[in-house]
Amino acid sequence: MSQIEASPELTEIVEPHGHATGAQWLSRYSASLLGVFGTPQRVLVRGAGCLVWDADGKEYLDLLGGIAVNALGHAHPFVTSVISSQLATLGHVSNFFTSPTQIGLAEKLLEISKAPAGSKVFFANSGTEAVEAAFKLARRNAGTAAKPRTKIIALDGAFHGRTMGALALTSKEAYRAPFAPLPGGVVHVPFGDIEALRAATDDTTAAVFLEPIQGEAGVRPLPAGYLQAAREATSAAGALLILDEVQTGIGRTGKWLASEDAGIVPDAVTLAKGLGGGFPIGALITFGPGVSSLLTAGQHGTTFGGNPVATAAALATLHVLENQHVLGHVRETGEHLRAGLAAIDGVTEVRGEGLLIGFDLDADVAPAVVTAGLDAGFIINSPTPRTIRLAPPLILTTDQADRFLAALPALLQTAKDAQ
Ligand SMILES: *Cc1c(COP(=O)(O)O)cnc(C)c1O
Repeated sequence: MSQIEASPELTEIVEPHGHATGAQWLSRYSASLLGVFGTPQRVLVRGAGCLVWDADGKEYLDLLGGIAVNALGHAHPFVTSVISSQLATLGHVSNFFTSPTQIGLAEKLLEISKAPAGSKVFFANSGTEAVEAAFKLARRNAGTAAKPRTKIIALDGAFHGRTMGALALTSKEAYRAPFAPLPGGVVHVPFGDIEALRAATDDTTAAVFLEPIQGEAGVRPLPAGYLQAAREATSAAGALLILDEVQTGIGRTGKWLASEDAGIVPDAVTLAKGLGGGFPIGALITFGPGVSSLLTAGQHGTTFGGNPVATAAALATLHVLENQHVLGHVRETGEHLRAGLAAIDGVTEVRGEGLLIGFDLDADVAPAVVTAGLDAGFIINSPTPRTIRLAPPLILTTDQADRFLAALPALLQTAKDAQ
């Protein structure tokens, strides 16, 4: 039997000549897909909970969750059933129309983000699109003809996405340089330096974009007090404070929003990765009536954004996270994992919150650890040469966490031996 078990019809369409091995799939991949991702690590065909299987039948414990996306693991029965029934009822309508799931999800997001009266939601299909919407929102905080606000501030190490506006906010030179000129006015200030942010934020500043924890930079949390200082500086200057919680939001840190303990009200928050439980969806929340009226009818749009199936997927995901008390589980499992990691020889620092975890190694072997992990049946990620990132499904069990902790010393050894 084929490894593709979704449906016999689908198997017949993609494997007309019978079962293909992982190696055969990858040669078809490189002949047909644009090379921007390099060669994928494996060809995955099936998942259940925190486990996935590749085209050769090998099983993996997924500790990356599609990069913080599969909040409820793979093929969650409730999410699958809600998506299927919504699709069988009404799949797509365009934004000339709306649907109960779109409205219900907007209301739910305003509730969990504790947004004040007059706050609103815009739906997109991805993280970068949520950030693009926020970028356009920032441009609408335009100042006056005599005193235009043209400056947008982001941090060194920031990752906000790959489309042109989001790329202008992203700091990594290797991502930016090939695509110059990027939308103008963006300046990057040193990470975590409150004085530098205060000095840069003035009456020409339209917005400051911050990630509460920089995921792509290796899971780097902002220092204590930074968000509060950023709120003060932006409020004083009339600039918007926009928090990019695409990676940190929706329970990833054991809270609905990573920023919720900071005691501040931002002007906008972007969400995406975990929101749809694996289904593509992004969102921009604008806080309060003033910010929520900056973008007016006709100034932004999307064909797919807020589609009934995507919003149903997100409603189902939020329902399970809430009703099965998953956020408390995330805090406990995260603490357990971080304590276990800190006790392992060769791990020099452990960072993060909930189930967004980065740990540093005592040598530049992180990519080799990822390879050793795959061979041993673990999916992990190396955002930097010395850092491993874990962003597993939020339903990861303590036993599964312990399986990885028990295997890690051997993975580190294998990686060092391969140097
Ligand atoms: C992943 C990510 C994005 C981009 O999301 P895509 O869905 O890949 O476009 C933006 N901001 C942050 C903080 C992210 O982690």
